[in-house]
Amino acid sequence: MSEYDFAIVGAGIIGAAVAYKLSQRQPGARILVFDKEAYCARHQTGRNSGVIHAGVYYEPGSYKARFCRQGLEHTFELCEQFDLPHERCGKLIVATGQHELSALDALFERCQQNALNPQRLTAAEIQRREPAINAVGGFFVKQTGITDYKAITQCLLQQAQHHGRCQIHYQHSLKTINELPDGTLLRFSHPQGESEVKAAKLINCAGIYADELIRRQGLKCDFRMLPFKGEYYRLNSHYNDITQHLIYPVPDPAMPFLGVHLTRMIGGYTTVGPNAVLTTGREAYNRLLSTDAEWLHLFAHGDVWKLLWRYKKAAVKELYSSLSKSHYARLVSRYCPGITAADFLPYRAGIRAQAVDRNGLLVHDFKFVESAHALHVGNAPSPAATSALPIADEIINRLF
Ligand SMILES: Cc1cc2nc3c(=O)[nH]c(=O)nc-3n(C[C@H](O)[C@H](O)[C@H](O)COP(=O)(O)OP(=O)(O)OC[C@H]3O[C@@H](n4cnc5c(N)ncnc54)[C@H](O)[C@@H]3O)c2cc1C
Repeated sequence: MSEYDFAIVGAGIIGAAVAYKLSQRQPGARILVFDKEAYCARHQTGRNSGVIHAGVYYEPGSYKARFCRQGLEHTFELCEQFDLPHERCGKLIVATGQHELSALDALFERCQQNALNPQRLTAAEIQRREPAINAVGGFFVKQTGITDYKAITQCLLQQAQHHGRCQIHYQHSLKTINELPDGTLLRFSHPQGESEVKAAKLINCAGIYADELIRRQGLKCDFRMLPFKGEYYRLNSHYNDITQHLIYPVPDPAMPFLGVHLTRMIGGYTTVGPNAVLTTGREAYNRLLSTDAEWLHLFAHGDVWKLLWRYKKAAVKELYSSLSKSHYARLVSRYCPGITAADFLPYRAGIRAQAVDRNGLLVHDFKFVESAHALHVGNAPSPAATSALPIADEIINRLF
């Protein structure tokens, strides 16, 4: 049986950042990263919007606000150091009617509290900067950027292999976790069968499966990860340069992650999206793909019904955007007139791993669950890709 100092479940950006930081702090440590897929960043990390968030929306003092602010700078530094694709294009948040101006004011204030120095813009100033955008007012956040998080994940893993004693085992799915007096005993399944590994510390970065692994270890877990699909469309190539900045509508303050935005992507094209629709399975990327058992399991608990009741208005709106392409296009044309469903090309969807508590409340902040020899990243929703490096620092500080 092989022995390691650290075993990391998940080769998404959080697992990769932990491996990278550990290999820097303890170059002699034996690190194993494993993932059930055949390559890294197969799930959330490789299917997101690619935005390096500045931290506009987050509650001052929360993990999200702190890690996002630090992650913003660390991500740009990493991209520069390793010549990874990035662009600091800035983000424009726009109000499309007078009724959104008070929410815009509140967001502007939040942005100032988060030390971002936003710039207020009138309708005419927005038109001058972005001729395709129609708004009654807005503000500009210059720090926001874009990148390719899959490329970042690959780079972090390569660096961990070059500079540390890090191994990566793909197609290894963690099945059981036994905590021992001096570490953890892990059982995997893989194409050749099953094997066991002993690790002094286990770090669970399994995204949407994080809660399952917490329970498999026998720890108390008072939340469930629920799958929210984010559907995108790619705009026709004649819209590649439609805007210079990222364009976001004013969100509902209770659910700042909702609101279809217009995103310049690395690669030179533009996407619209994502929406957020509760879906039938943790990997149900295509509308009907989910095993019956998973669908039943998802809806067999009270939390999901409480959630649907609590957020019924938003749930119906998001579902409608999924069912009707022309409704989706209308959401974008509110601030970018002229866009219609005919301009939409298919684009891959992502599935957000969102923790929900027993009362059906969304858990907004990052969450960690610990035992003597294991640390589980219980909730790492957006902006966790931006925040991956400071989250890794936090994890390592908790381990020692
Ligand atoms: C639609 C969408 C848009 C987003 N946009 C942004 C954005 O613009 N900017 C931003 O900062 N954040 C964004 N996010 C959030 C961000 O992408 C995620 O928070 C981040 O990628 C989470 O990374 P992770 O490593 O925790 O999870 P993941 O990338 O999901 O990785 C988890 C890994 O664990 C593996 N795994 C799971 N279970 C097991 C097991 N039992 N055994 C072995 N391996 C296992 C999986 O195969 C997977 O590779 C977005 C997310 C989505 C879905």
